[in-house]
Amino acid sequence: MTNTNCLKGFQCPKCKSFGPFRIEVTTTILMYDDGSDYDHDGLEWEEDSYCECNECDFHGMVKDFQTSQCSWCRKETHEKLTTIKNATDDLSYIDVCKDCIGVVFKDIPEAKIID
Ligand SMILES: [Zn+2]
Ligand SMILES: [Zn+2]
Repeated sequence: MTNTNCLKGFQCPKCKSFGPFRIEVTTTILMYDDGSDYDHDGLEWEEDSYCECNECDFHGMVKDFQTSQCSWCRKETHEKLTTIKNATDDLSYIDVCKDCIGVVFKDIPEAKIID
């Protein structure tokens, strides 16, 4: 099952697990002399935070685990998507996987690749 909440877009690039993952986080806590009133709502991570798969121990950065969805075929992929602008309509930009670039150009010959 794909993730829809805290781990939205996350998948291990090696074993394809959807988690859980060990992620290095930064947080601010309210610290008292006798301990903290720990509240996990403030957890934050960056694209380059350390991330490790609990299933296969593959480790890398958060961005290595994040997938993006191709706007054309709707496939979740670890590859970097290419942004294509539909020149006939200034407002539409779509992010597509490499398998779809050719298909998009066949469909929209006026399209332009934006990087
Ligand atoms: Zn894994
Ligand atoms: Zn695609």
